[in-house]
Amino acid sequence: MSAGAQVSTKWPQHSMERPEPRVVDPGPYRPSGPPPSDAIVLFDGRGAKSLAQWTAADSATKPARWKIVDGAMEVVAGTGAIATKQAFGDVQLHIEFREPTPPKGESQERGNSGVFLMGRYEVQVLDSYHNRTYADGAAGAIYGQYPPLVNASRPPGEWQTYDIIFHRPHFDASGNVTAPARMTVVHNGVLVQDNSVLSGPTAHMRRPPYEKHSDALPLSLQDHGDPVRFRNIWVRKLE
Ligand code: MG
Repeated sequence: MSAGAQVSTKWPQHSMERPEPRVVDPGPYRPSGPPPSDAIVLFDGRGAKSLAQWTAADSATKPARWKIVDGAMEVVAGTGAIATKQAFGDVQLHIEFREPTPPKGESQERGNSGVFLMGRYEVQVLDSYHNRTYADGAAGAIYGQYPPLVNASRPPGEWQTYDIIFHRPHFDASGNVTAPARMTVVHNGVLVQDNSVLSGPTAHMRRPPYEKHSDALPLSLQDHGDPVRFRNIWVRKLE
């Protein structure tokens, strides 16, 4: 198994004493070119009009109920998380998000959403621009496990990007983990997770152990009650 960052035992989960990630100005948003030729486009970046690739996360037979605003999908509070119709294992994922402006709320209540690889492993989406919260819950955190290496957030209202390399966990026949999940995350062009080894699924106030699951599962996006927008979402399968 390759070396990678391990969850720190130095700080309790969600500790407010844990140092905040250093702020790095990533510069203004730069529109990316078209997706690579082998990418699966889950929501395009040029005036998409439909959620055809998505369903409600709690039932693949129910439609996604988020709305489309200015060519982006926007969380509609209370409608629940949404998930891709397709299932994925190891991926390279590009996704763009925009935090609500003017900003509202503090800490975890400001522009919270999340990108859940396999519906289980969350890269936190939060408005972390001048917004103090616990380090392992900031934008670019692997929620409750790893703070981002730095805070590369843009101001609310500006488009931001995540580029995520995700390797799924592997299990043996009896359900033991033979290789944990790993993630590398680039936020607005700045490295914020460097081959971080996940301790299990991400969760609030706990770090649950792995539970054996399929080799491919839908990607989901969180409804945390805030009108965060997403667009230009594509994946490349790495397996
Ligand atoms: Mg979240």
